[in-house]
Amino acid sequence: MDAALPPLSASTLYLVATPIGNLEDITLRALRVLRECDVVAAEDTRHSGQLLKHFGISKPLLSYFQFNEARRSEEIIERLRRGEKVALVTDAGSPGISDPGERVVKAAIVAGFRVEAVAGPCALVAGLTASGLATDEFYFAGFLPHKSGQRRNKLASLKTIEATLVFYESPYRIEKLLGELNEVYPDREVVLARELTKKFEEFLRGTPAALLEIAAKRTLKGEFVVMVGAAEPKRKKADMESGCGGGL
Ligand code: SAM
Repeated sequence: MDAALPPLSASTLYLVATPIGNLEDITLRALRVLRECDVVAAEDTRHSGQLLKHFGISKPLLSYFQFNEARRSEEIIERLRRGEKVALVTDAGSPGISDPGERVVKAAIVAGFRVEAVAGPCALVAGLTASGLATDEFYFAGFLPHKSGQRRNKLASLKTIEATLVFYESPYRIEKLLGELNEVYPDREVVLARELTKKFEEFLRGTPAALLEIAAKRTLKGEFVVMVGAAEPKRKKADMESGCGGGL
């Protein structure tokens, strides 16, 4: 552990993880970087402005999402060139995971600048670690494509992976996804991690068919991490190694 507090470095892009729901989930380092940086580059300046206000931080905000693809990172790179310390935040969680942060990071590295992760909340990690599914090997597939054919192909292509599969999904497509999982992975254990770190957080576990029954009885609202347990041999191996000897 290193409790020393070195000053922020010039010409560095800091990827600052922010809460995924619970405002207590922000690190001391994240707050310091947000306080000491020259500018906060945000996916949505209004959203991030409210977050900064909550923590009593007043800082110039710049949007990196309002321009077209080519211009998005330009201003950030220009500021790094001038020696500025830039904190990058997205709407929630760790910048770069299934959000526009990834492009900015690539652009900064290509331009030769230092990039540092200020680690913190991430929906994928929060959902997976509390799911009860194997965590020794997992495959993060992010968001599936929108088109039905492409979704099925993608799901089918993941069948050979001997690891827990992790997806992000919007509430508008969660039932659709359960239907697709019922076709492609009818016998697998599925865990829906809903509204992580928020007041109505819950974990729904079962086969796709069992979860579809729940969805038929009540509307599934909110944000979701969807996880699919590995096929049988992998599950047995993980149980034996951990000494559990049984299912979940
Ligand atoms: N960068 C973020 C992270 O570190 O998790 C993810 C950004 S991605 C645009 C947003 C997706 O993450 C949501 O659609 C949902 O699938 C998942 N997500 C974010 N917050 C969540 C929460 N509180 N509970 C469950 N899933 C969440």
